[in-house]
Amino acid sequence: MNFADLKRLYDQPLFDLISQSRAAHLQHWRGEQVQRCSLLSIKTGGCSEDCAYCAQSAHYSTGLEREDLMPVDEIMTAAKRARAQGATRFCMGAAWRGVREGTPKFEQVLEAIREVSQLGMEVCVTLGQIGPNEARRLKEAGVTAYNHNIDTSPEFYPEIVSTHTFADRLTTIAAVQESGMSVCCGGIVGLGESPNDRLRMLEVLSNFDPAPESVPINCLMAMPGTPLAEQPPIDIFDLVRLIAVTRLALPKARVRLAAGRARLSREGQALCFFAGANSIFYGDKLLTAENPAADADRALLRQLDLAVEAEENPPAVREISD
Ligand code: SAM
Ligand code: SF4
Repeated sequence: MNFADLKRLYDQPLFDLISQSRAAHLQHWRGEQVQRCSLLSIKTGGCSEDCAYCAQSAHYSTGLEREDLMPVDEIMTAAKRARAQGATRFCMGAAWRGVREGTPKFEQVLEAIREVSQLGMEVCVTLGQIGPNEARRLKEAGVTAYNHNIDTSPEFYPEIVSTHTFADRLTTIAAVQESGMSVCCGGIVGLGESPNDRLRMLEVLSNFDPAPESVPINCLMAMPGTPLAEQPPIDIFDLVRLIAVTRLALPKARVRLAAGRARLSREGQALCFFAGANSIFYGDKLLTAENPAADADRALLRQLDLAVEAEENPPAVREISD
């Protein structure tokens, strides 16, 4: 979709917009399933990049304790716990600018992936910049999807990051697409960007070929010590509008209500699900920030009668119609 089409959708009366996005959602996704993904930080803090929102950047004093790459057995313990709690996707994140084939840390990550992929969950990793060789090896090891967010519009990106470019992000995404791994790519709202920046981001995402399989929409978690520590949260209805337009622009993608969900009311989350969100990050911790408790999430999904994918009902049952 182009920017003008997205803008036309976005500027409709809210109820007209969410009625349309609901119809698109029902057309492409059978039932009311909300996928639960669990996220584990396998290497924390000390990152060379200066992403202005990120508590893991070494450029800012955020009080975050650095942790080396997690041993494979600890990763497996966390993955098994996530599966026992009902997660059907396990995402491992590392605070790296990127990673190269032939390094011991890359080999260790591959080993962890090989083991985790035996557990029957979708496996997602987010390791920063990679090229075609790394992408191929990750795919061979059992990765389902590679997460690499574009975060905002190409125009606003340089206001947020100076140590790499928007084009660098796209280069990694192209390598992932070429390898056959699915692309998980989305962004953050509340960085100080305009509504048009959010739509420009969606324009870029909706023109990916192939389209991203998964689109996380993060709400900025304003981290003390980062340049964006004082950013005010975005309004819930702006978030709902964006989710609805995302559903319309990318009808077959998992739209993930990602970071910042702890700040949303249950009613706000329900509206996001109605508008087209169909996945949450689940578990008490989200890389380095708090997330709603797993019990509270289970209770909310039950109350909303959103059938939860259980282990005996794996993600393969989801339907994407053409
Ligand atoms: N270093 C890798 C990278 O940048 O691709 C992977 C880890 S990074 C933490 C993954 C994503 O988390 C970022 O692209 C961003 O969208 C999201 N994120 C990080 N800090 C955030 C925050 N404070 N609030 C909301 N989202 C955040
Ligand atoms: Fe590093 Fe990723 Fe955080 Fe940027 S978002 S500082 S690349 S961990």
